[in-house]
Amino acid sequence: MMPAIPNFIREVAVVQHNEPIAQDIYLMRLYAPRLATACGPAQFLQILTDSGLSPFLRRPFSVLRADRTAGWLDLIYDVIGTGTARLSAARCGDSRDIIGPLGNPFDLPKSKRVLLVAGGVGLVPLAFLAWEHPDRLSDMIYLMGAATAARLPDMSALLPPDLPLYITTDDGSAGQRGLVTERIAEHAMPNHTTLLTCGPHRMMARVAAIAAELNAPCFAALENHMACGFGACVGCAVEYKTYPTEDRRYRYVCLEGPVVNAHEIVW
Ligand SMILES: Cc1cc2nc3c(=O)[nH]c(=O)nc-3n(C[C@H](O)[C@H](O)[C@H](O)COP(=O)(O)OP(=O)(O)OC[C@H]3O[C@@H](n4cnc5c(N)ncnc54)[C@H](O)[C@@H]3O)c2cc1C
Repeated sequence: MMPAIPNFIREVAVVQHNEPIAQDIYLMRLYAPRLATACGPAQFLQILTDSGLSPFLRRPFSVLRADRTAGWLDLIYDVIGTGTARLSAARCGDSRDIIGPLGNPFDLPKSKRVLLVAGGVGLVPLAFLAWEHPDRLSDMIYLMGAATAARLPDMSALLPPDLPLYITTDDGSAGQRGLVTERIAEHAMPNHTTLLTCGPHRMMARVAAIAAELNAPCFAALENHMACGFGACVGCAVEYKTYPTEDRRYRYVCLEGPVVNAHEIVW
């Protein structure tokens, strides 16, 4: 049976800041006190990217961090199509209609070692988790992968200062050369590690496979295409295996995610 449509807030947010922080990647600060109070790491907002009717469909975005006292929240987004191009054109003082928070949040595992494995703008929900748990930063290690230095924001401005950070780029133009997944084994603590990941589908599939080899729990924040965000369009279905029979079923990322047990997903 499909879960019920969730309760959510609708708020008209005011743009306080919207600037590029890397090639085609923007940071947007929105004044949205009700959403800032309600949202958690990996939950998402469905944003009307323009003040007019085009594009008609909202676009989903996670939250990087929120200041519940000041009432703002930050997003980071990659400009890839019409909606994100419209978002990048927003100026200070413009407003955007938002519903949220939707989906389930990342829980911080109790493990002694929590590896946060991020690819590209998948950095966002993992950063929020770290901001939300300043007392557990010494248990976490943040592995950040980007294609090139040009596509890598200044991570020191986006993460808590005490969070251990290791950067890789595919071409070696910043940090260590290679794929972020190649760094997992050296930071894993046998029998005490949980992996949390967000990024491109292939990267998360590889993280799940490495976690399986390490016999470690692994949770992924999926970023599937979705139109509605609350179970009406069923566009975001992903295949998963039931335990222990391994029957194949479908789950909706918007209602039963975006955070899922990565070992159950048919990657
Ligand atoms: C739960 C969730 C959280 C997300 N958080 C973020 C975030 O924090 N930052 C961020 O930059 N993006 C995030 N995304 C992805 C973001 O929603 C899309 O990039 C955005 O909707 C693209 O809108 P557009 O109108 O610019 O592109 P469109 O014009 O809709 O598409 C442009 C091209 O990109 C492809 N595309 C669009 N969306 C996706 C997708 N989700 N997966 C694969 N291909 C896609 C299209 O097929 C098309 O080829 C998230 C997605 C989900 C589901």
